[in-house]
Amino acid sequence: MDNDTIVAIATAPGEAGIGIVRLSGKNSIGVADKIFQGKRTNKLVEAESRKLNYGHIVDPKNGDIIDEVLLVYMNGPHTYTREDIVEINCHGGIVPVRRILEICLENGARMAEAGEFTKRAFLNGRIDLSQAEAVMDLISAKTDTSFDVSLNQLEGSLSSEVNDLRQNLLEMLAHIEASIDFPEHDEEYATYNQLKENGTKIYNSIERLLDTAYTGKILREGLKTVILGKPNVGKSSLMNRVLKESRAIVTDIPGTTRDIIEEYVNIKGIPLKIVDTAGIRETEDVVEKIGVDKAKNLIGKADLVIAVFDISDDLNSEDMQIIDLIKNNKAIALLNKTDLPNKVSQEEIKKQLPNVRIINTSMITGTGVEVLEDTIKDMFFSGEIKSKDETIVTNVRHKDQLQKALENIKDGLNAIEMELPYDLIEVDLKNCWENLGEITGDTVGEDLLDKIFQDFCIGK
Ligand code: GDP
Repeated sequence: MDNDTIVAIATAPGEAGIGIVRLSGKNSIGVADKIFQGKRTNKLVEAESRKLNYGHIVDPKNGDIIDEVLLVYMNGPHTYTREDIVEINCHGGIVPVRRILEICLENGARMAEAGEFTKRAFLNGRIDLSQAEAVMDLISAKTDTSFDVSLNQLEGSLSSEVNDLRQNLLEMLAHIEASIDFPEHDEEYATYNQLKENGTKIYNSIERLLDTAYTGKILREGLKTVILGKPNVGKSSLMNRVLKESRAIVTDIPGTTRDIIEEYVNIKGIPLKIVDTAGIRETEDVVEKIGVDKAKNLIGKADLVIAVFDISDDLNSEDMQIIDLIKNNKAIALLNKTDLPNKVSQEEIKKQLPNVRIINTSMITGTGVEVLEDTIKDMFFSGEIKSKDETIVTNVRHKDQLQKALENIKDGLNAIEMELPYDLIEVDLKNCWENLGEITGDTVGEDLLDKIFQDFCIGK
């Protein structure tokens, strides 16, 4: 691999107390030495690794001071990338970090690609691919639970399960090889029985991992939620209530035509990704405005629909439309404004929505909010989410690989069941072993690597 020296701004853009520019590669100390004038040290090689050095970044072209900094170098291989790393702590803000980045580029470093530090950590064998992917999930985690799951994966929980499975497959393959090489010692009956027993164990383990993927997807991507209701029923009040108790995470995705805003709320550790929040906050007639077809479309794509009704007022045709839209979906109906005298019989709504969970709420007093949160949790997760000690598959790529591995071990088990020739069984087991290897990156092509790391941010 090329281990030229890369540089990137490691901290988020914007005004901040400090900003960090990070260099990695065999010449990172060389680059730093050209631009750093330490108070005590002139040559970094003479300074101690992992100790902060106070000084200035100076432009070697003209001696201009660029910024006052604290600089640390860490010699490999005990670093994030396993290469020599230099971190320059400068003043926060857009200008100082950009100026220091530029001066590093002028003095021998090249701009890092997205995720290149982590890619190097992978290529240099410090972490495997699933751990590298966990780094990205950690950064983008929306709730404590999602964070814990990613941290668990970074610590190697998925890797170690996958490696155990691969080891077991290798043992099965070795058993088969021995039986092919020394048929005279082979008791066929025993071999098939043994293979069946081991293959079944592997099958069950893969299936168990796959069972966690639904939970994992929600924790990683958020539960796509649509909030519906005619104007003034209390949709914004609901948002504000859940937002107040959690804290919204708003992500701007710069688009070509307009910025899409994703809004997340944290419900007991589950990130809810609220779809079309702009629509929710419109005061006009929502269903009328966006159209029944679009509303249907939104509902079709949602994991969860929350419909809000104002029961201090008579239901009108728009309420009836909404009832019609949600009755066969994963929905929760909130009968809101229960603090006011009721005009609608709750029984009537229950009759019309026999398959929908109905909760009485008041966004003014807070009644029912806790019940709503528990209901959401119960609807999507059976039992507690054991984010700390259970391996949860969060990544679609991992899920796909597990799915393929499951198919192959299933084929293998069928072949074993039918006592087909050993070499046929071998093919299935080998395929399964390779499918699992793609999760950890043991059997993975360069193009896939590029695809995975291009989603990272630059500087990670
Ligand atoms: P939206 O148009 O559906 O987003 O409705 P809002 O959340 O803006 O609420 C409309 C009005 O109803 C506001 O004046 C709220 O304060 C009020 N409101 C919302 N929820 C309740 C409730 O549970 N009880 C009472 N009494 N008023 C509510």
